[in-house]
Amino acid sequence: MVTHVIDFSTVSKNPLNPLGSKLRAYILQELQSATSNPTISSIVVFGGSGPHFSAGADLTEFSSVSTLHADESTSSTLIDVVNAIEASPKPVVAAIRGACLGGGLEVALACHYRVAHSKRSKLGLPEVHVGVIPGAGGTQRLPRLIGLQRALQMILTGVPVNASQALKMKLIDAMVDDEDPKQLLNKAKEWARWAEVMPIRRTSQMKVPEDAAAAHVICHAASLSLPQHGNTGVQAALKACRASYTLPFGKGMQLEHELFVQVLLSAQGQAHRHAFFAVRKAQKTLSSSVPHHPLLSETGVSTAVVGAGTMGAGIALVLLQSGFKVHLSDISPLALQRGRQTIEGIVQRMVQRKKLQPAAAKQLLSRLTCTENLNDLNSSRLVVEAVVENMKVKASLFHKLDQITPADCILLSNTSTLDIDQMGTQSFGSNHTRRSKFAGWHFFSPAHVMQLVEIVVGTDTSSETVGLLQALTKRIRKIGVVVGNCDGFCGNRMVRPYSNESVLLLVEQGNTIQDIDKALLEFGMALGPFQMSDLAGNDVGYNVRRELGWVRSDDENGTRSVPDSRPSRYTELADVMVTKLGRLGQKAGKGWYDYDPTVEKGRKGLPSQEMADLIEQYKSSTSNRLSAREIIERVLYPLVNEGFKCLEENIARSPGDIDVMYLYGYGWPFWRGGTMYWANHEVRLDALLSKLREFSQQFPNTPHY
Ligand code: NAD
Repeated sequence: MVTHVIDFSTVSKNPLNPLGSKLRAYILQELQSATSNPTISSIVVFGGSGPHFSAGADLTEFSSVSTLHADESTSSTLIDVVNAIEASPKPVVAAIRGACLGGGLEVALACHYRVAHSKRSKLGLPEVHVGVIPGAGGTQRLPRLIGLQRALQMILTGVPVNASQALKMKLIDAMVDDEDPKQLLNKAKEWARWAEVMPIRRTSQMKVPEDAAAAHVICHAASLSLPQHGNTGVQAALKACRASYTLPFGKGMQLEHELFVQVLLSAQGQAHRHAFFAVRKAQKTLSSSVPHHPLLSETGVSTAVVGAGTMGAGIALVLLQSGFKVHLSDISPLALQRGRQTIEGIVQRMVQRKKLQPAAAKQLLSRLTCTENLNDLNSSRLVVEAVVENMKVKASLFHKLDQITPADCILLSNTSTLDIDQMGTQSFGSNHTRRSKFAGWHFFSPAHVMQLVEIVVGTDTSSETVGLLQALTKRIRKIGVVVGNCDGFCGNRMVRPYSNESVLLLVEQGNTIQDIDKALLEFGMALGPFQMSDLAGNDVGYNVRRELGWVRSDDENGTRSVPDSRPSRYTELADVMVTKLGRLGQKAGKGWYDYDPTVEKGRKGLPSQEMADLIEQYKSSTSNRLSAREIIERVLYPLVNEGFKCLEENIARSPGDIDVMYLYGYGWPFWRGGTMYWANHEVRLDALLSKLREFSQQFPNTPHY
């Protein structure tokens, strides 16, 4: 008797084995011929010798209602596939390796047994993150197999589990350690032959292990934990999971399908999928071919970071985590020592949280060298500068690096505002080769956590360098968005009118700091504008306003004169809190809020009487507190307006790129799709334009309106 193998890689050209119509048709056809062939006694479903079982459905099929329905009418669905697998009279075993996600896991759940590779497997149902819910039985089979509590945890968070966790919760039946995919296949075949003599075990015929009362309590507790906003997907997923114990399997499947379609067509579902595709588009390499470069293909390549402060230490850690050797350099021995301690501290916490094995942590730290001597960077293939935000200091440093580093070394600046072209000219003069390998690589703080990196392209940056940086940013597991060179680039340039207008609301409208932050938090932002400013440091905005010539400066008589260049609609509130009160934000223990080291480790903003008194001094008499909706219009419309200016000036390549930046760099809610998507789909562009025109008449001399 023979075990037949259904190998996805036979028809799939994509290593992720998306379950598109071709693969679905293949699985069904193979199943049919295997079940009707008397010499075949069992079946193994296998992703192939590639890295993955299947990362799930082909999301492009969900791109519009018409394609969904067209597809349903012309080809078999994933529901047909899972039903056919489970109904097979001959035992079917899934051999899992790599990603077994979404539809991939639903296929595995329909199999009668599951065997997975111990190190490389990732099993999960992440559908809520891409604007759908599991739609091929995931919400009905998973609770039956592993219990409602664990299934809800996996489905509502979308967080996958590894093979050991899966074995513990009985999501899989066995594990294989051997890296060779043939060993995995052999193990799955062993299980298949054993299953031939056992009664077929079908998940749909199991009962959710918790009794009805316990299941009810679990669902109620889960409903209380759901986010208050943007919850269409998770609400529907919970409702579908509840059906796994309240309805018979067939009825539960029917309800799951109805809810799946509802979420798919909902505004939030569409916004989520827009975000999913926008990220992929933003990361597509611009140059026709990604250059072959050791920075992309080899481990242990020498890199360096100059400036061991907040950003430098974070960037060095990111490079170390990606397998590079890193020289961390600073002019200050104390800063260098602190930089090393920061890195070691984060690595230690990763070990404590079991995110990193002790041996791997030791190995990672062994690749870090701290040095005050720039000459030690003479074999670096990449140097990232993260020294103070000062053109002269940066240009002088790059001038030295030009002499020290190999001619083909990539030199990058982490500046958040300075002109990359001016920096290139001041640093390298007419050395065109150097300037072609020079660009901005703008990380966000904390660099080891935040996913966004702006790739700032200067006039002389070559397309090979841009392509290399896009691929390198992917390699270090960040999301790179290519932007043009201007003051603040794209992300921070757009944030300025938002922050400035937020401060103006305090003095012109009488809204409180808490009112404004609350309005933005309820909108779905991860932080309100004042919380964000306290986190980044209020001196950052002050320095920008100073560079723009907006803040008072000392004149010859020692009095501080009001600069002519300042817009007439301006408040000195934010300047005074920095210069006179030292309220720099969280790092100073006081900013727009007060911070108490004993409350949430000094991270929770508490109302500040000093700030309330200061605001009172600057408040104009026309106070008229705005509603949350009016606050949103006043602060977010100018942010979007600046986004359109970035598009006009080719600073951003597409509205989708701006959406990605705001989703991954500024805490914009995914269920609203991104700034420009929101403006286009929720606000509507004609309404936005007319409101901006109204504001510009109401508030003349306001650059952002
Ligand atoms: P930081 O003050 O924490 O660190 C700067 C470090 O540079 C200090 O340790 C200093 O000793 C060192 N340094 C100064 N001159 C030097 C020189 N000539 N050679 C070597 N080292 C020198 O500053 P940071 O917040 O890490 O910012 C660094 C850069 O990153 C700036 O350009 C900043 O605009 C940019 N940035 C900062 C953030 C942020 O949120 N902090 C975010 C994105 C980008």
